[in-house]
Amino acid sequence: MWSNVLYIDLDTGEHQVKDRADLFDKYLGGTGVATQLLLEECPPGTDPFSPEAPIIFSIGPLNTIFPCVSKTVSMFKSPMTGELGESHAGGRLSMAMRFAGYDSIVIKGRAEKPCYLSIHDNEVKLKDATSIWNVSSVEVIGKILRQVEPGKGRRSIMRIGEAGVNMVRYANVNVDTYRHFGRLGLGAVFGSKNLKAIVISGTEDVEIPDIAPYSKMYNKLYDAVVDTEVMDKYHDLGTAANINVLNQLKGLPTRNLKQSGFENAENISGEYFADNLLLRKIACSNCPIGCIHIAMLKTTFQKGHEFEVNHISYDYELIYSLGTNLGINLAEDVLRLIERCERYGLDIMSTGGVLAWATESYERDLITPPDTLGIALRWGDTNSYLKMID
Ligand code: SF4
Repeated sequence: MWSNVLYIDLDTGEHQVKDRADLFDKYLGGTGVATQLLLEECPPGTDPFSPEAPIIFSIGPLNTIFPCVSKTVSMFKSPMTGELGESHAGGRLSMAMRFAGYDSIVIKGRAEKPCYLSIHDNEVKLKDATSIWNVSSVEVIGKILRQVEPGKGRRSIMRIGEAGVNMVRYANVNVDTYRHFGRLGLGAVFGSKNLKAIVISGTEDVEIPDIAPYSKMYNKLYDAVVDTEVMDKYHDLGTAANINVLNQLKGLPTRNLKQSGFENAENISGEYFADNLLLRKIACSNCPIGCIHIAMLKTTFQKGHEFEVNHISYDYELIYSLGTNLGINLAEDVLRLIERCERYGLDIMSTGGVLAWATESYERDLITPPDTLGIALRWGDTNSYLKMID
């Protein structure tokens, strides 16, 4: 039923679709299939930044047709570890792949000049991305592509920012503005292939062979999510609810993991964000939980009450990485740091880890001002951390 693999060669711009029922019958879910595809396409010793290194996306048999099954897996050789790179993202991507009729996508080669992939049903095109290659903000790139590409309402847009273009080894890939392939450097692999973005949409129907038992199972799962308290926490406060809980349990990463609890956790807790900064909640396609929490950050940029307003998604991992683990005391400062990483397309957990390590190293004189371009690192000093990210 689901077995189409779209192979794209960035060297030539050509593509082909193969029926790989052999994979989908044998391996479990998108992750199993993508792992096998990586084994086939990425021989030992492949340089993660070489044209031969593949980028693989896969969805599984349950994506889109059952509630909450909204993730797509990406599989690649990580430029950060040199090992298997696996990262998962929500947004609209799995729905777009399903409606376009592709269960996996394999991308190899390196485009001659900056490009983006435009995939709409069976139309697969390599398009010139020279004009957006050096646009650093992933938000702006999304806005531009939404203007020029079709598929509104059924499309997904992946793109890299300045970090990916410069092949920072922990650059991420932004998916539909508020979700990411965050871990292990997929954004840098995009950059190495001169690939700025991928837009995908489709109009295929999904056929359900036996509708009665399907409906029964769908409703059972849907009711379990919506009519019980099991997922309340995620819709109410989101994963940020974990800050206060883990602080009480003494399991909250603090100041480069030197401590397991933060004295000002309450000020950057999920409860504080929800009461003071939360703007709205959104969901990945086909997910009734809606755990994505978007905060509003208002920054004065000129006298006379002139403000810049940013909408920023926050989660537990982001708050500890750029909050407690750096000794940051204000929720607004955590948002400023998240926004800066988002703008460049940096993996926030890795960025926070590097900053925390650097701060402790600075504190212990293991690194000195010449190593930090003269920036003095101190726990809780947001402005220094912003300069470090820049
Ligand atoms: S909205 Fe939240 S719970 Fe639902 S699929 Fe997306 S990340 Fe997962």
